[in-house]
Amino acid sequence: MEEDCVFCREVIGRRNASIITENDMAISFMDHAPVEEGHILVIPKKHFRDIFTVDEQYYLEVHKMARKLAPIVMKATGADGMNIGQNNGRCANQVVFHYHVHVIPRFCERRLSWDRKGTTAEELERVAKTIKSQLCSVT
Ligand SMILES: [Zn+2]
Repeated sequence: MEEDCVFCREVIGRRNASIITENDMAISFMDHAPVEEGHILVIPKKHFRDIFTVDEQYYLEVHKMARKLAPIVMKATGADGMNIGQNNGRCANQVVFHYHVHVIPRFCERRLSWDRKGTTAEELERVAKTIKSQLCSVT
């Protein structure tokens, strides 16, 4: 736990996020500034800065969770495609320096953009509930 890391402090520590699912090593939650509706993040529960430092077991658990969630998010949002990605370093647009994977549903009729959209905690919680309802139906 790194107290100056927003993911360690707010998501893992205070659970101040719309959490989708978690296990001992990984946790997924709604990105608070989504580029599309249904944009979620998957992170290790232990602090690692980036791809260069993440422990392999945590890396595998994070990516297994992303893979498991991908079809669920597709179905829950009615998306046509999906971006799975992660950024390393400020010049690569990494903003939070705790390893994280973006799961971003995409829609054919919308312009492909990486711009962040404004949203509300209530809206994030609504989308999280929709995704979680799909999660329950497959587990
Ligand atoms: Zn952290």
